[in-house]
Amino acid sequence: MFLIEYLSKELLAQYGVRCPTGHRAKTASEAQAACVKIKAKKYVVKAQIPAGGRGPAGGIKLAATPSVVHDEAEALLGRNLVTEQTESDGELVDAVYVEEAHDLASEAYIAFALDPYSGATLLLTSGDGGTTFEGASRSQSNAVHSKALNQDALESEIAEALSGIGINDPDATMQIFGALEAFHRNDMLLLEINPFAQTREGGWMAIDAKVHLDPSAAFRHPEFERLFDDYKGQHTESEAQKSNINLVALDGSIGVVVNGAGLGLATNDMIVDQGGQPANFMDIRTTATSFDIARGVELLLQDANVKVLLLNVHGGGMTVCDTVAEGVALAYSRSDNKLRCIARLAGVNADWGRQILKDRKVPVENVTDLDAAVGRATEIAGAA
Ligand code: GDP
Ligand code: MN
Repeated sequence: MFLIEYLSKELLAQYGVRCPTGHRAKTASEAQAACVKIKAKKYVVKAQIPAGGRGPAGGIKLAATPSVVHDEAEALLGRNLVTEQTESDGELVDAVYVEEAHDLASEAYIAFALDPYSGATLLLTSGDGGTTFEGASRSQSNAVHSKALNQDALESEIAEALSGIGINDPDATMQIFGALEAFHRNDMLLLEINPFAQTREGGWMAIDAKVHLDPSAAFRHPEFERLFDDYKGQHTESEAQKSNINLVALDGSIGVVVNGAGLGLATNDMIVDQGGQPANFMDIRTTATSFDIARGVELLLQDANVKVLLLNVHGGGMTVCDTVAEGVALAYSRSDNKLRCIARLAGVNADWGRQILKDRKVPVENVTDLDAAVGRATEIAGAA
């Protein structure tokens, strides 16, 4: 799970890594107001998205005055930022981080990574950090030095590695030793500080940081619970996307399987009208196969909040009822979760679809009237 820049820095700062003074802002006026607290000669406004490569993509803006901070924040917020590391439609910038800008004398690349084969922690270093680094490291394999560290690595090993890229500064060593402790204590898979930079005044600091936490270790970190919950939502949604299904996770307990966005919205409205809460919005795209649909239904069956499934399918056009029924049956056959399934199938091949659900032992209740089907699902979810 990716921790966005400002959260990564807040975490690292607790372990003695020096980071510029900064504040997160969700609006341009908040960004301008943050400058009063930061009190710097100049500022940098940074788009907070879960991806790097922001510099060359226009997501990092230097600003001389608070009013320029306002304008740069306004230009970034609410837009999608496309970088080399995002999908082609980019990531929505819903917050910026405003920091004191420092004049940088040199930029290094420092990272810790878990080697999945040996289980060792790798320390990766390069004297050429910053935005050009990522391109350079792809074309020149010797751009990065790698060193395997034991659990009980000593500060002197860090000092030696830093010295190898020309950093001979006890304070920098202490900071990176602190970063290593942060890496271990928080079950990180990857911690990247790029750039770890020397300012004109001489000190070293983390100008950018990216942390990947291990989702399998989530149970050891109740302090990250909210972040992991958010991640689960995003993760489910992107998984569904890969299977031709638009899915938005919601807070309720009725898992809805619906073909068509309008039908999906109407179904969710009907659930709320009858006193229930949908666990998701779903729109099965017309190009989805029964395998795709199975994947979407599987995601709902894996969600502990879902107490009942409601199928509302109008067969016609490209998506016919038997295709959806095949997908649902396949998902149930792969899962131990035998949740009750209220099926309202109408239109093309509705009878055939009902037959498939019955033959394949899906714990189904066929209800042909839509109002009654929604009512039944609400009743089961309410009793659970
Ligand atoms: P990334 O492109 O997403 O990795 O974003 P970074 O936070 O690493 O910023 C990209 C580049 O912008 C850095 O490598 C720096 O060269 C530059 N940059 C970021 N913050 C500052 C700053 O406070 N001062 C100066 N001079 N440059 C900065
Ligand atoms: Mn960076």
